[in-house]
Amino acid sequence: MDFSLFAEEYFDEVLRLLRHLCTIPAPSGEEDERVRFCQEYLAELGIEATLDPAKNLLWTLGAPSQRVTLFMAHTDTVFPRATPLKLADDGTFLRCPGVGDDTANLAVMLACVRCIVEKKLPLHRTLLFAADSCEEGLGNLKGCRQIFADWGDRIDRSISLDCSYRGVYCRSVGSHRYQITAETEGGHSYFAFGNKSAILPLAEITCQIYEIEPPVVGNSKTTYNVGILSGGTSVNTIPQSATMLAEYRSDHRECLAEMETRFAQIFSRAKEACPRLTVERVGDRPCMGEVDPRALDELSHRAAGLIQKYTGICPEFRSGSTDCNIPHSLGIPAIAFGLYDGGGFHTTEEWLRKDSLKPGFCIGLEMILREGEAE
Ligand SMILES: [Zn+2]
Repeated sequence: MDFSLFAEEYFDEVLRLLRHLCTIPAPSGEEDERVRFCQEYLAELGIEATLDPAKNLLWTLGAPSQRVTLFMAHTDTVFPRATPLKLADDGTFLRCPGVGDDTANLAVMLACVRCIVEKKLPLHRTLLFAADSCEEGLGNLKGCRQIFADWGDRIDRSISLDCSYRGVYCRSVGSHRYQITAETEGGHSYFAFGNKSAILPLAEITCQIYEIEPPVVGNSKTTYNVGILSGGTSVNTIPQSATMLAEYRSDHRECLAEMETRFAQIFSRAKEACPRLTVERVGDRPCMGEVDPRALDELSHRAAGLIQKYTGICPEFRSGSTDCNIPHSLGIPAIAFGLYDGGGFHTTEEWLRKDSLKPGFCIGLEMILREGEAE
């Protein structure tokens, strides 16, 4: 089936939704207003969507079935509340912080739901839909974790509508992030010379991290980074306090575990030298678990096939850190891909090509209807 006629018919609806959603601020953990708008939108269609404690909005469509497929698009953006959200439309491009990631996918998903309801398109099994929270940054996938805690034993496949249709994310990169703080007596740089400095232990930790040879298994990739190191009072003061943020990432579970051990050794040596050193894990995204490779391959290629059918673009298969990390860690086949073409992700110059939302709508609708076919 070709859904281009529906895409034409619902194009204005997609734009209307996108224009409205774009201007509602939604930093991770503060998605309330966006979620409320979606809940009211669904209520108009006769769909009762429920809000869970993590601020996910959930609803189901289709005939009752024990096993379900999850479709989700996240409501949060990386932008703080104070970021001006002004949408610019020059006829070809839409520009606004968060316009693509992930507002466009949320808008197309809602318009597809509207189309399914209004056109009475058949779904022979239950599909679970979620406008989920806290996908970005230190949101730590809180929304997705809650969905899998509540529904995980019924979910066969998980499809996140995220980013653009240039890539299909089918492998998850796990990461751990740490905030390390050191405190010392400090003092005058001349008169108290010899007192301990709070910057020194953090500098030593940094050097030791950069001596690590990242582990490799097969064609895995493992990285580390010290992103922020700050502290001290003035040039003539021995620093009394300092803090740093560091992370490591890997697309391989064993390598992630190896990095965890290496970091723990570095931290424990540092604590011996500096008793008032605290380490807090501020980020935790799990790695790939045992996902059936055939099922994952089938799902990824189906998405890639639909993208190619409607856009002519052959998307890349990529590793990433997305809502897929949670299902992947549980061994559930999961992919993430988007329903538009755009760029400038996570910048205030973010943009998308308006006419890309039409093939995007077709890809989304066909993916949903295929998952609704009887097994
Ligand atoms: Zn996103």
